[in-house]
Amino acid sequence: MVQSLDEAYELLAQDRNNVILGGLLWIKMGRKQYQTGIDLSGLGLNAISETEDSIHIGCMTTLRQMEISPLLLQWFGPLFSDAFKGIVGVQFRNLATLGGSVYSRFGFSDVITALTALDTQVRLYRAGVVTLSKFLNMDQKRDILEKVIIKKQVTQTSFQTLRKSATDFSILSVATSLCKGNWKIAAGARPSMAILAENAAGLLSPEPDEKTIKAALDRVVNELSFGTDQRAGAGYRKLLAGVLVKRGIEAICR
Ligand SMILES: Cc1cc2nc3c(=O)[nH]c(=O)nc-3n(C[C@H](O)[C@H](O)[C@H](O)COP(=O)(O)OP(=O)(O)OC[C@H]3O[C@@H](n4cnc5c(N)ncnc54)[C@H](O)[C@@H]3O)c2cc1C
Repeated sequence: MVQSLDEAYELLAQDRNNVILGGLLWIKMGRKQYQTGIDLSGLGLNAISETEDSIHIGCMTTLRQMEISPLLLQWFGPLFSDAFKGIVGVQFRNLATLGGSVYSRFGFSDVITALTALDTQVRLYRAGVVTLSKFLNMDQKRDILEKVIIKKQVTQTSFQTLRKSATDFSILSVATSLCKGNWKIAAGARPSMAILAENAAGLLSPEPDEKTIKAALDRVVNELSFGTDQRAGAGYRKLLAGVLVKRGIEAICR
């Protein structure tokens, strides 16, 4: 259990088999043997706090803390509670951390899809503050995710997903947001990582009519790429994208 992030990074850099520990839920599924587990839980990084213009969420904050946070609800509506409620179960979400969820950059991540629909940055020990999308596309150098920073602006949101059965991974997830007249449409589990459909979102006015929504849906399915894995085929995901994005837009316009 380290006393500072400096100490944590020093240990991480010492040996390729040293590892930062989040909630350990993913790590324990693998067979890899590690030398030293670096526990950040004594550093007070498990809180959600606000400054004048942003919300800061420490890397050891659990998914459950975010799911039930009145502060996140106040600014971003039901986005996080809707996105996280399908991730295994409450006991699991009481342990899974934001840091482990974002740093792993899983394509199936509902967590990353939700964060992509907001104005989100991450603070890394070595690389400093970068936008979430830059982080997701950066070379995977060993680093420590200290916190996630979200711009504090009232945002209407919706999270839509389809799972074959409860608690399975999403076949596709879509997070939609409307802030100061600007839409964001994020699609994840394509099965690759979440990405914004910027052209489609650009077509939408604050109160789009049926025709505009239809044009945006057509753009989404042409703008984004979809792939095949054991859960679904690319063609099915493409069809599903139109449905989930439509539901997301309508949930906000209602
Ligand atoms: C059975 C199962 C089902 C799941 N289903 C879903 C789902 O439906 N939707 C979804 O979105 N997610 C799902 N997940 C992923 C889950 O939500 C977490 O993202 C995952 O468990 C990682 O979080 P953790 O805190 O357990 O991290 P750990 O397992 O402790 O760590 C994961 C990785 O992140 C690294 N890491 C941890 N913290 C940091 C940090 N601060 N800085 C740098 N690196 C760090 C670790 O070194 C490790 O490589 C599932 C996971 C499991 C095991």
